[in-house]
Amino acid sequence: MMGRKNKTLTILLMLALSVMLVIAGCGSSAGTTQEAAGADSAKVAEGTAADNSTAGTESADKEKEEATEATSGASEMVGYTPLDQLQERYDIVIIGGGGAGMTAALEAKAAGMNPVIFEKMEAAGGNTLKSSSGMNASETKFQKEQGIEDSNDLFFEETLKGGHDTNNQEMLRYFVDNSASAIDWLDSQGITLDNITITGGMKEKRTHRPTDGSAVGQYLVSGLVADVQEQGIPLFVNANVKEITQENGQANGVKVVFDGSEEKTISASAVIVATGGFGANQELIKQYRPDLEGYVTTNQPGSTGDGITMIEALGGTAVDMDQIQVHPTVNQEKSYLIGEVVRGEGGILVDKAGNRFVNEMDTRDNVTAAITKLDNRESYLIFDSGVKSRAKAIEQYAKMGLVQSGDTIEALAEEIGLPADGLKGTLDAWNESVADKKDAAFNRETGMDHDLSGAPYYAVKIGPGIHYTMGGVKINNNTEVLNTTGEAIPGLYAAGEVTGGLHGQNRIGGNSVAEIVIFGREAGVKAAEFVKANP
Ligand code: ADP
Repeated sequence: MMGRKNKTLTILLMLALSVMLVIAGCGSSAGTTQEAAGADSAKVAEGTAADNSTAGTESADKEKEEATEATSGASEMVGYTPLDQLQERYDIVIIGGGGAGMTAALEAKAAGMNPVIFEKMEAAGGNTLKSSSGMNASETKFQKEQGIEDSNDLFFEETLKGGHDTNNQEMLRYFVDNSASAIDWLDSQGITLDNITITGGMKEKRTHRPTDGSAVGQYLVSGLVADVQEQGIPLFVNANVKEITQENGQANGVKVVFDGSEEKTISASAVIVATGGFGANQELIKQYRPDLEGYVTTNQPGSTGDGITMIEALGGTAVDMDQIQVHPTVNQEKSYLIGEVVRGEGGILVDKAGNRFVNEMDTRDNVTAAITKLDNRESYLIFDSGVKSRAKAIEQYAKMGLVQSGDTIEALAEEIGLPADGLKGTLDAWNESVADKKDAAFNRETGMDHDLSGAPYYAVKIGPGIHYTMGGVKINNNTEVLNTTGEAIPGLYAAGEVTGGLHGQNRIGGNSVAEIVIFGREAGVKAAEFVKANP
């Protein structure tokens, strides 16, 4: 038997390969318009993330095929459940194998249930796999150990401020109050997030990352997949749920298409919807936000809003659907997100003249608004070797060819085509601001622990991209799905990006991973309680 550590490592490697392949597909494939919610999985996989390119070339098609082949190889090695082990009935069906779905499954299993996870893509992970910053939590044991003074109230206030006072405050209270226990729970599952950084809109360090400071998504997903396997929870991939079935107003199973052809009806005593957001569904984006048509998306191709459509068909209701987060720092060619950690560890943003133009640590919506005003919505993220060593995610960006470098500031300026004087002057002024702990130009207050003086220097060209859909189905703190009159639909639960309300009009970086763990746990616990009470 492979030990837990080796198994996690193998899963990590295979998931990393899956991500790379999806990315390879995104960068070069045809910009097939994503089908509306409920799209057939094979088509969604072909469409890749809704990128901007339009030409469907032969070579692009070939790359897609290679990606598909290799990814399904990855699926086999990760060890998803073979179809011949499918049962006709489970206690709880969980739709979606991202962070929220796998977390819910683990809690449901711990409560003595027999849950199943159906994932429509070829690999588990969803958008969770791509998350980079970390998981926000307050009053955690790791913060205490590291002398970081934080409080749930401050976390509440800052998130509310970041969401422009539009967050569902009941959900937000539950969220902050259960954040530290979620960190402990992950730790007990072998997923340790003890390296703490800060994201935009926050005043305290509360963004928890893996010990080595690497991107949280791959580590979290590989850990959850290993736990799901260890617990013997069946996880079927290429399992596209099309409908949630109902009897006498109670959710009692799903209709699911396996491998793009065979539809089966699976019964259950409760259903948890954890299908993620709709950032890869261009039709829905256009419907709710015509101004965002044509923007690149950082989302994985399976994020098409299926859960929202299925829940609405059962009388559920959605909130904040037009609240779509555009991330300010996305590489446009590969639709790849450059995490906030680069700014949190000291990076700055400059325009084509080499000048700063915004408080880089302001909230995502404000930084995006500033970039949107620039020529071609184009900016450069500038950092030094110190930032590179502290923000491990940069290694991944470099491997993907997104990072340019120079041994001196002037050399970097030449490499990226900016005026050397402009960039040099900006860096000198910035380093003085760091030394004085005062940014007179833009009032930045965080991510200023280190200046930018360690050669070589680096740049990543960025612009805004659709990143996260804050709207979604309405739930209460028991994660019960609510109908239009605010009553719970019996047997139906939802957690994660598919739900709306927590973030209001603007999500703070690091709050989505916290959301999927906190509410994913609750969905598993509450669905199990429901099944026990209604066997
Ligand atoms: P969250 O962060 O809320 O967990 P993710 O995007 O990480 O969201 O995961 C959601 C998962 O649900 C994705 O892997 C996505 O492919 C999957 N999914 C979406 N729609 C369906 C569907 N109709 N059937 C099965 N899985 C789905």
